[in-house]
Amino acid sequence: MSKIVIVGAGASGLACAICAKRNSNEVIVIEKNSTCGKKILASGNGKCNYFNDDFNIDHYHSQDKELLNKIITSESKQKILDFFSSIGIIPKIKNGYYYPNSDQSISILNSLFTEAKKLGVIFYTDSEVLKITKHKQQFTIITKDKNFIADKIVISTGSKAGIAKNYNGYKLAISFNHTLINVLPALVQLRTNASFLKSWAGVRVDAKIKLYENNKFIKEEVGQLQLTDYGISGICVFNLSGLVAKSLENKNTVKIVIDFLPIVKVNSLKEFVAWLDERNKLLSKRNLVEFLEGIINYKLIQIFIKNLYLPKQASWNDLSYQQKLDFAKQIKEFNLIIKSTNSYEKAQVCSGGIKLSEINLKTFESKLEPGVYFTGEIIDVDGDCGGYNLAWAWISGIRCGENL
Ligand SMILES: Cc1cc2nc3c(=O)[nH]c(=O)nc-3n(C[C@H](O)[C@H](O)[C@H](O)COP(=O)(O)OP(=O)(O)OC[C@H]3O[C@@H](n4cnc5c(N)ncnc54)[C@H](O)[C@@H]3O)c2cc1C
Repeated sequence: MSKIVIVGAGASGLACAICAKRNSNEVIVIEKNSTCGKKILASGNGKCNYFNDDFNIDHYHSQDKELLNKIITSESKQKILDFFSSIGIIPKIKNGYYYPNSDQSISILNSLFTEAKKLGVIFYTDSEVLKITKHKQQFTIITKDKNFIADKIVISTGSKAGIAKNYNGYKLAISFNHTLINVLPALVQLRTNASFLKSWAGVRVDAKIKLYENNKFIKEEVGQLQLTDYGISGICVFNLSGLVAKSLENKNTVKIVIDFLPIVKVNSLKEFVAWLDERNKLLSKRNLVEFLEGIINYKLIQIFIKNLYLPKQASWNDLSYQQKLDFAKQIKEFNLIIKSTNSYEKAQVCSGGIKLSEINLKTFESKLEPGVYFTGEIIDVDGDCGGYNLAWAWISGIRCGENL
C-alpha cells in the first residue's frame, strides 16, 4: 500500500483516485476549487459527452502521436466502458456519442465522487498545490494552509483551457524537469475582422469549411457553422481550430473557405453558375433575394449583394457572366481571413502540454522522476470534439490508478 496524493479533482484525477483506491492504496485528492469536476459539469452543454464509439487514434493530436497507438486501443475502450458500468452509468448513445442516460453531466460527476468517497478517498478542496518537493523517496506537497507527505504523486491539473487565470499546473510538472510542448488553445472559436460580422451574427447553417495555410489546402470539415459578431464557431470550426492556432503562431496567413450550399455538389464555379441558370428558368423575374431565399439564409444573401456592390433589386438575369461567377463564389467559396482564435478562457481544450515520450504509457509514470505520474489534459494530447478529450482523461486516469 502506498500513500498517494493526486493533484486535481477533474475527470482524470477522479478516475485515477477510484482505481488507485480499489488497489488498496491510501489516496488523497487535493483540489484548488471549492468543488470537484467543474469541467465535467460544463461538458457537452451540461449533458457530458463522455466518450465516443469511434475511439481511434485519428481523432487525437500530439507531437508524439505514434506513441498513442499503445494506449488508444480496443482494450482501452473496453476498460473505459467497464469503468463506467462499475460506477453505475448507463450510456445513451447518439451517432456514436456517449451521454449518461440521465442526459445530465452532474450524474457523471456525482457517480465518480460518490464511488471515490465510498471507497475512502480523502478530498481537500479550496487547496491549491503551490509546490511539490522530493526528498529521498518522499514527496512534500505544499498548499497555502497545509503540507502533505506522499510516496507517489499524480499531477492531474488539466490545462489552461476554460480558465480565466491563475493556472500553475505546468509549473508543477516543469519543476521535475519535464518538457512543455507549446501550449495553445484548441477546440475554440475563430476570429476575423470583416465588416459584415454584425449582419450575420446569430445565423446557423450547414456548411463545408476548408482550411488554407498560405493558400495551401490543409483540411476540411462539414457540420453546423455558427456565424457570430467576432467570426465563426461550431463543432466543424472547433475541429480545425487547433491547426489554425498553430498556423497563426507560425505567422502564416490562415483562410477559411466556406461552402454555404454543400448539398449542391458541383466541380467548379462555372458548373454552379449553370445550376443557378437552371434554377432561374423556374424562378425568373425575381430579385436576387427572392431567387435565393429558399436555399440560403436571408441575411447571407443581403451580405453577398452588398459585398459585390449590386443594386438591391438586381435579378439573376441582370448580372454579367463575371458577376454571376462572383456571386457563385460568395455562396460556394466564401473567403474569410482568420486573425486569431478566441482566448484560452473560451477554449474547451489546449493542444500541447507535457511531452508524451517522457511518460511511460503503461503506468503514466514520469520517465524522468520515479514516483511522479501525469494524467489527462496536462499531457501533450488533445482530441477532436465528440467525447475524445474526456476519453483521454478517463483512460489515462484509469491506467495510472490501476498501476499505482
Ligand atoms: C466548456 C467545456 C466543455 C467541454 N465539453 C467536453 C465534452 O463534451 N466532451 C469531451 O470529451 N471533453 C469536453 N471538454 C474537455 C474536457 O472537459 C477536458 O479535456 C477534461 O476535463 C480534462 O480532464 P483533466 O482531468 O485533465 O482536467 P480537468 O478536468 O480540467 O481537471 C483538472 C483539475 O485540477 C485542478 N487544479 C489545477 N491546478 C491545480 C493545483 N495547482 N492544485 C490543485 N488543483 C488544481 C483544477 O481546478 C481541476 O479541477 C470540455 C471542456 C470545456 C471547458
